[in-house]
Amino acid sequence: MKKWSFSTSAIHAGETGEKIEGAVTLPIFQSSTYLYEGQSSYGELKYLRLNNTPNHISLCRKIAALEEGEAAIVTASGMAAVSDSLMAVLQQGDHMLAQNCIYGGSRDLLSREFPRHGIEVDFVESLARKDLEAGMQANTRALLVESITNPLMQIDDLVQAAEFAREKGIVCLIDNTFPSPFNFQPLKIGYDMVIHSCSKYLNGHTDLVAGAVIGSREMIEKVNHRNIHFGATLDPHTCFLLNRGIKTLPLRMRQHNSNAAALAEFFARHPKIARVHYPGLPGSGVNARTRKLFNGFGGMLSIELKGGKKENEGLIRGLQIPANAPSLGGVESLITIPARTSHAGLSPEERKSTGISDNLVRISVGIEGVEDLLEDFEQALQQIG
Ligand SMILES: *Cc1c(COP(=O)(O)O)cnc(C)c1O
Repeated sequence: MKKWSFSTSAIHAGETGEKIEGAVTLPIFQSSTYLYEGQSSYGELKYLRLNNTPNHISLCRKIAALEEGEAAIVTASGMAAVSDSLMAVLQQGDHMLAQNCIYGGSRDLLSREFPRHGIEVDFVESLARKDLEAGMQANTRALLVESITNPLMQIDDLVQAAEFAREKGIVCLIDNTFPSPFNFQPLKIGYDMVIHSCSKYLNGHTDLVAGAVIGSREMIEKVNHRNIHFGATLDPHTCFLLNRGIKTLPLRMRQHNSNAAALAEFFARHPKIARVHYPGLPGSGVNARTRKLFNGFGGMLSIELKGGKKENEGLIRGLQIPANAPSLGGVESLITIPARTSHAGLSPEERKSTGISDNLVRISVGIEGVEDLLEDFEQALQQIG
């Protein structure tokens, strides 16, 4: 059969051919266990924690199709996807490299938990060859990067990082939460595993927490074993909600892309804004080879106001539409100060080394009418000093 377009896959990929009781939408299979049908091994039994109920199977196929991977698994959170995938490739005595500016929770996992299990981690300044080369040790087994780093929205040389990993024979993992597969598909340029916090764009409605890992059948089998043993599996109701959310991913992403691009341009021209961080803006430093791989630059941007804490707080107070809340990727706009939320777990020194100033404001641009968002930011900016 002809390969489906992304939008068709988002709706139909993975759905069961047979319509159960005529139901057009796959119902929720709220059953923890299933009849014994002569299976000879534990892994073949159907049980909720084994990730093999109809809701899991259908959802995993859909997510694999969107990232154009062989297989996928879903997990109880994005952090479970990060930890399961890394634990699938690392063991005691191993060393791994990670990009410096990764998600605060992942950074904490790597710097605070992994050493307790005999896994060493070094953070690299950039994905430039010289920095990666300098970080390599005889026992380096994996490299973890993020497609768009948070909260400065930088896109490093993702093509070069994958080539480097391939050349050195280390497993290359990428957290693709920010672009979503609509904007960027890392497996196509040689990444071994793609990780998502589905709590963000894939679901898109700010009403659940879930994760996913996509890769070769062999890799995903290993990740699934970790997930079954550590126990962070997704319940069928959440599978159903996530499956439903994904169906509108292409529509939502188009709107996130265009709303955020319009706001970034507005901020770049605004006299009260000192800096705008958005990878779609000219001069954002994304190299041409990597830029070409992106369909759009997503809904995340950050700004630095002229002034400081007082101005930031004034802006947040003056806004009517964006809610002051952490997390991202939903239909509604959210605004936060990373030093106090997503990156509060880092010490002031760690924040400084990753370039996160205390007055940085991060915006998850939703899919509201762009004219309303522009007007809201304009009136809130006018109110401050
Ligand atoms: C939110 C997030 C995570 C963690 O996901 P949870 O679903 O909150 O566990 C991991 N990586 C990135 C880039 C994120 O934004």
